[in-house]
Amino acid sequence: MYLKKLELYGFKSFADKVSLNFEKGITAIVGPNGSGKSNISDAIRLVLGEQSIKSLRGSKLEDVIFAGSETRKPLGFCEINLTLDNSDGLLPFDYNEVVITRKIFRSGESEFFINKTPCRLKDVHELFLDTGIGKEGYSVIGQGKIDEILSAKPEERRLILEEAIGISKYRYKKEEAERKLVSAEENLIRLNDIVVELE
Ligand code: ATP
Repeated sequence: MYLKKLELYGFKSFADKVSLNFEKGITAIVGPNGSGKSNISDAIRLVLGEQSIKSLRGSKLEDVIFAGSETRKPLGFCEINLTLDNSDGLLPFDYNEVVITRKIFRSGESEFFINKTPCRLKDVHELFLDTGIGKEGYSVIGQGKIDEILSAKPEERRLILEEAIGISKYRYKKEEAERKLVSAEENLIRLNDIVVELE
């Protein structure tokens, strides 16, 4: 699996639709200061489900929508499409390509799509669990992240290793099952109360 294409519309400095094709292997993005290099990695993080505004260098999510210029009006929404090559079948789809889409509106709301089918943020997160990609996948290492990893507490460093060796999916599923168990127990208590009232 590898990143094949990134399409942006109305995202930060990219007001017009732009399409970037990545080949297998290493791609370097070069350009003058302020030309939008980091905006490209911000777009990849956002489409993979990043919710932290701080890591996107803004104060609110809407800040990622093209804010207008002397000659152009601001836009009402932005759209990011990330195409992944899935010919090795790592993602659970029978397609050779998987397209993840995120639309962000001025209201601060987001819409997510996998292969053009609307989905939840949770579905995007779950899709990438343990693939090494994803918002916590360490495939995008931001400025300062290496320092953060080196100075992390042992428990925090353990979480990083767990993601790398593929345990985090099971931890996530265990936590989800525990949440469901708690909610089932609460329902049972409520049901018992009703039965007692009726008797
Ligand atoms: P450097 O090499 O200095 O790190 P860079 O190439 O990584 O720079 P970015 O940080 O990606 O550059 O891009 C910053 C540019 O994006 C700035 O010119 C900024 O005005 C523009 N920009 C950021 N958000 C928006 C927005 N919402 N609308 C329009 N332009 C934006």
